Formats: sequence, structure tokens, C-alpha cells
Amino acid sequence: MKKLALASLDKFFETVAASRTLYLPVDTEKGYSEYKKWADGTKLSKALNTLRSAKDFFFPQTENLMDFKLSGKAIEVIDTRSETEDFVVFGVRACDAASFGVLDRVFLQDPVDTYYKNRREHGIIVTMACTKPAETCFCHTFGIDAAAPAGDVSVWETADGYCFEANTEKGEALMNSASSLFEDTDTAAVEEQQAKTREILKKLPLANLTTDGFGRGLTKELFNRPEWQKLSESCLGCGTCTFVCPTCQCYDIRDFDTGNGIKRFRCWDSCMYSDFTKMSAGQPRPTQLERFRQRFMHKLVYFPDNNDGMFSCVGCGRCLARCPISMNIVKVMKTMGGKN
Ligand code: SF4
Ligand code: SF4
Repeated sequence: MKKLALASLDKFFETVAASRTLYLPVDTEKGYSEYKKWADGTKLSKALNTLRSAKDFFFPQTENLMDFKLSGKAIEVIDTRSETEDFVVFGVRACDAASFGVLDRVFLQDPVDTYYKNRREHGIIVTMACTKPAETCFCHTFGIDAAAPAGDVSVWETADGYCFEANTEKGEALMNSASSLFEDTDTAAVEEQQAKTREILKKLPLANLTTDGFGRGLTKELFNRPEWQKLSESCLGCGTCTFVCPTCQCYDIRDFDTGNGIKRFRCWDSCMYSDFTKMSAGQPRPTQLERFRQRFMHKLVYFPDNNDGMFSCVGCGRCLARCPISMNIVKVMKTMGGKN
């Protein structure tokens, strides 16, 4: 384990940014934090988490997949990808780091999504352990330890510095690039910090929330439960919960006619929208109840069914904080699941 002095953090950012693009959470005037590209003077936010997750760097909200050029009856396919450079995402929390396990299941299984894979190969994730988990946090429900985040490098903020531990070759290389700033240290300060964080976690309002009643093989038990009616009736179908979610991965592909060719875009979509997966034969989920049920059944039953029991929620709490009518996955779990 290595230690970086408190006063050396900006120097570390400067050193990393000299060879790679560096993104980190910064405070905005709008009252929340979001990832920004580092520039001289950029300060790391003290906020617990960003409004939107680090997913955006690997699966962006919109991307130009390819172009088509028409010449008479010939169609030329143009690869619009520019070589992705190495980049670093600093300050990813344990929940968001775990979300990549979900996204990898979706995008790296056959057929591999080469756009996502390319970014995963070029991206270095530096996580930061939580010191002040929020009342909306429930990552522990899904077996995630906010005090021991994964990633290529894990970082803990302690009383007098930052402790860094490389977990992968990419992480090791990153730390080597700033080796003159580090000194060796033992794990005592980290363990002290972890104990404090775990004490807070035990006292959070959602400390006892469990996944009892959800998981593999429960479609028949849950699908027609009457509670879906009441839970879904106030949902506005705005899609906010899906857009802030680090694990949501639905998208739509559209072609745009530019007059002399076609541009093909991939854009995030939301299962909460009334035109989601609409086909010429119609809309497979014509009511908001069906759409609402789809979102939560997918995260808590269908995804585990198809992915060795893995849930596709990491308990980041963003949907709890952002839904305009205060509906969220926790309310669904408390209403439909076991005793929480
Ligand atoms: S469903 Fe909500 S709590 Fe779970 S990962 Fe998505 S935004 Fe976070
Ligand atoms: S659950 Fe909330 S955030 Fe999600 S679509 Fe419905 S109203 Fe919008």
C-alpha cells in the first residue's frame, strides 16, 4: 500500500493528466457534482457521488456508431470510431465500480460490443472508499462494501493523506507513473477508516434491506402480484431513474438522412417510455404498470435469472434521490419482497 500526502493530490492529478485524459468529480453551481475533465486548478468534489455515474465514459448517452455514404447504387460503410486514448476516471464509489460487473455481463458477452470493449480496455478506474455514506445508500444489500471499493486502483482518504492500492496491471502502471509522489505505508490508517465507515453503514435507514423475495426463478410468484398496480399508478414515465442509474443499459439505434448519406446513432433509451421497444405490430407493454414492472423485474429477477444470480442494482441510491414522485426500487423491494 502507498500513501500520498494530502497536499500532493493536485500534483498527482497533474502528473496523471500529463499522459492521459483524467476525469474526476467536481462541484457544480447547480448544487451537485459531476465528472469533468481535469484542467489546472480543478478541485476534487467532496460530495459522496456524482449526479450521473461513471457509466457515461464507457457507454455514452449518444454515440455515432457509423456512417453510410451513398453513390448511385453503391453504399460505403464508414467507421466513425476514432482511436480511443487511455483515460482515467478518478473517484468512482464502490457501488459504481460494481456496476461495471453488470455492464460487462451485457456488453462483453457474445456478441461483444466492440465500442464498449474498446473503452473498457482504455479506461482506468480509480475508486474512492466512502467515508460518509448517505441515507439513500444500500450497496450492502447487494454485497458491496463501501469501505473496500474495487477498480484498477482503490483509494482511501485518511486523516493525513490518501492511501492507494493497485488491484490490476493497469492500476499498477498508473501508480508507477506518479511513483515519486508516493511513500510506502501499512494498512492501519485504512483499517481505522474502514471501521468508522462500517459503523455508519450499520446505522443507515436501509441497513437491514435485503434481497429476500427476489432473485432467480421468481417470475411466476411476482409477475401478477396486485401490488404492482398501486406502486406504478403515480409513475410519470419520465425515465429519470433509468438515466441516472449506473446499471441501466437499454438503447435505441436510429439512422439520420443527411442528404448525401446516413448517420447511425446509438442513444440511451428507457423501459419507462411509452414507445420503448415499439414495433410495427404495436407496443409490447402498453400500460405504465407493465413498463414499471419491467424495470424492477428486470433488475431483481430477470437479470439474476440470466446472470448466475447477479442483481442489476448496486444500491447507489440515485433513483431514490432523483425520482420526482419519490418512487424507487427500495419501495418496490419493501412492498414486494421479504421482511426488510
Ligand atoms: S436502480 Fe436505483 S439504486 Fe439501483 S443502481 Fe439503479 S439508480 Fe442505483
Ligand atoms: S419511477 Fe420515478 S423517475 Fe422513474 S420513470 Fe417513474 S416517475 Fe420517473
